[in-house]
Amino acid sequence: MALAPKTVTCRCGHTFTATRHRNWCEKCCEAVYYHEKDRNRHRVNSIYVVGIILAVVTFLTYVFMELIASPLLSA
Ligand SMILES: [Zn+2]
Repeated sequence: MALAPKTVTCRCGHTFTATRHRNWCEKCCEAVYYHEKDRNRHRVNSIYVVGIILAVVTFLTYVFMELIASPLLSA
């Protein structure tokens, strides 16, 4: 979906025209968002994903300990 061209400024100071929600700065290759609030939303999403991964890893560790390590230790 194309957006109306809008001038955005990257954190490095490079100013260019953005036509998508997420654009890449040509100078430092960082993501520059069309809407400033999108940056925070993406950050929250990343934290959420990391949280889910941590929960899954913790759960798998627990299952491993219960099913595999416990019988070995008690044998
Ligand atoms: Zn930049």
